[in-house]
Amino acid sequence: ERSGKWLVWYHEEMEQHYLRRLTIITELKKALMSEHTELSMVYQPKINLETSQICSVEALIRWNNKALGFVPPDEFIGIAEQAGLIELVTSWVIERTLIDLASFREAGYSFTVAMNLSTQDIQHPELLGRLNSVIRREGLLPEDLELEITESDLVEDAATATDNLTKLSNLGYRFAIDDFGTGYSSLAYLKTLPVNTIKIDKSFVLNLATDRSDQQIVRTVLNLAKVFGLEVVAEGVEDETSLNVLKKWGCNIAQGYFISKPVTTEGLFEWLANSPY
Ligand code: C2E
Ligand code: CA
Ligand code: CA
Ligand code: CA
Repeated sequence: ERSGKWLVWYHEEMEQHYLRRLTIITELKKALMSEHTELSMVYQPKINLETSQICSVEALIRWNNKALGFVPPDEFIGIAEQAGLIELVTSWVIERTLIDLASFREAGYSFTVAMNLSTQDIQHPELLGRLNSVIRREGLLPEDLELEITESDLVEDAATATDNLTKLSNLGYRFAIDDFGTGYSSLAYLKTLPVNTIKIDKSFVLNLATDRSDQQIVRTVLNLAKVFGLEVVAEGVEDETSLNVLKKWGCNIAQGYFISKPVTTEGLFEWLANSPY
């Protein structure tokens, strides 16, 4: 009787789960096909720890749906990938982000913009063409952009990924390995991939001020990066102690709530006018 009850509960949980998934797929399709008004981009500053100046902003997608409310990207990006919608999402992100980047240039700012790509994006060569044509249309250069890809994405089809990344790299695009330390990455990738930057995942940075093992991990990654001549970004910097420690250890770039939360373009212009960075 007990297990019967559990099964009913399990069944309801699953139904809830699939219903939400289905709703996300249907609603995301609508959002992508319509005037895209439900989707938006926010930007989070990164600062160069040597100069204490802003050097880049990371573009992060936001989705506020009428029925579902705010849906976090960690939830809908994965679903979009599985439902075959990620190409449309990435196209939208490219379009919106590069228009915004052009407006940052117009306002006289020279920082780069970091865009997140997903697994399937780097397997698709059409992405290359789309990115290039929007870059040209907006009067920008590949160097104005940085593409963030996660470690685990590279493992799936390493040969194709390396191939496409090399092509993009030859055109002037720069790459960062995101969520560094969380995947099953073989360090050999660092040798063969045209990567300029690694981003230490926030799970190792959030408690950096107090956690001894996080401190060890971060120092190890910084040493490793030095050997490979890579630039290091620490994400998830939430307090001043962590920021100072990273600076002392020679980390190049920091990003996190202590510096700024992700903000809208208007919010970014306001931050640029008022922040000490
Ligand atoms: P990510 O690329 O690792 O992005 C960093 C996440 O950490 C962001 O969450 C950001 O808001 C958050 N964050 C930044 N600083 C701090 C901090 O100091 N403390 C804490 N606790 N969190 C911080 P967000 O915006 O919810 O994005 C989650 C993930 O969704 C991203 O992880 C990325 O994998 C994916 N994502 C977001 N936007 C896009 C996009 O346009 N395209 C693709 N393909 N993926 C995206
Ligand atoms: Ca990222
Ligand atoms: Ca991360
Ligand atoms: Ca990620």
